[in-house]
Amino acid sequence: MKILANDGQLVRATSMTWQQHLKSAIRDAETLRKALRLPTASGDLVAIEKSFGTFVPFPFLERIEPENEQDPLLRQVLPTVAEGFSSPQSSPDPNLESRSVMAPGVLQKYPGRVLLIAAKSCAVNCRYCFRRAFPYEAGPTSRREWSESLSAISADRSIEEVILSGGDPLMNLDDTLAWLFNELSGMAHVRRLRIHTRFPVVIPQRITDQFMAVLAECPLPITFVVHVNHAQELDDNVARAMTNLRSVPNLILLNQSVLLRGVNDSVASLSALSWRLLELGIVPYYLHQLDRVTGADHFEVTRDVGLKLIAALRESLPGYAVPRYAEEIAGEQGKVVLA
Ligand SMILES: *Cc1c(COP(=O)(O)O)cnc(C)c1O
Ligand code: SF4
Repeated sequence: MKILANDGQLVRATSMTWQQHLKSAIRDAETLRKALRLPTASGDLVAIEKSFGTFVPFPFLERIEPENEQDPLLRQVLPTVAEGFSSPQSSPDPNLESRSVMAPGVLQKYPGRVLLIAAKSCAVNCRYCFRRAFPYEAGPTSRREWSESLSAISADRSIEEVILSGGDPLMNLDDTLAWLFNELSGMAHVRRLRIHTRFPVVIPQRITDQFMAVLAECPLPITFVVHVNHAQELDDNVARAMTNLRSVPNLILLNQSVLLRGVNDSVASLSALSWRLLELGIVPYYLHQLDRVTGADHFEVTRDVGLKLIAALRESLPGYAVPRYAEEIAGEQGKVVLA
């Protein structure tokens, strides 16, 4: 299959690099609808797309069933008028991240581990994202700008784990990641690195031999956490990327999901996801209760329903296949495990 890249060239999708996929991603709801042969949206999406744009690269688009408005992958990425409603319980910063900034780009909420915002954007824009209103512009995302962030991590000996998050840390070039791994590995108190990314799932072409070499050369053990919400996201290309990641020594592969109405809020869907993850050697780590970010109310599944789903999973799956059902509660010393 050939697709039109933004520079007007017809390119064979299978031979495109991850950067080309980013460049030619779909950037508005109307084009996304047309590509999937869906009717024009009812209602005005201008303000919604202005505050949080549409961004869907081709390798993810390919896994969405055309003409199906209810497709579980489409629902994660298609802007709708429902995002324009805001309830009293939602806010732009539901986890009060702005209060946890210990240095530019460094968030510390929990003892022993900090989160480094390593990029300003992602491989895809997930409509339920709790950082959809995050003020990325102000944060550091280059080697020079990170120097203050790294000094702060280096000066705090209680930090044992650094989590690269974002935005998506894999937006950075391999050289930059290698540099960052090196800087962090040089700090004696930092013992583990963690990477939170949706790239291997959204654009599996990101997992190149060169990137794997960067991972393999990292002196610290790496916990690699991917983000998959539905088994349909895990096609053959993603499976190959995961197999490659598993071949890296000193790396463990975990998944986190968000419980989302109309995407994965059924026993059948969650159990298919767990089985498919395990087939690919990925351990289900967290199922997150949705953070109440403004614009995502329509994705919320109540805690009661979530608890029932987990109970049903526990009856039918081995213990290691059931993720921890967790919620982020501002001010708590860690994620609160509900079940
Ligand atoms: C989720 C999160 C972590 C990691 O929590 P774990 O329970 O160790 O997975 C660390 N820092 C911040 C700010 C987080 O939001
Ligand atoms: S990949 Fe993660 S941080 Fe990026 S938009 Fe999706 S949920 Fe948000």
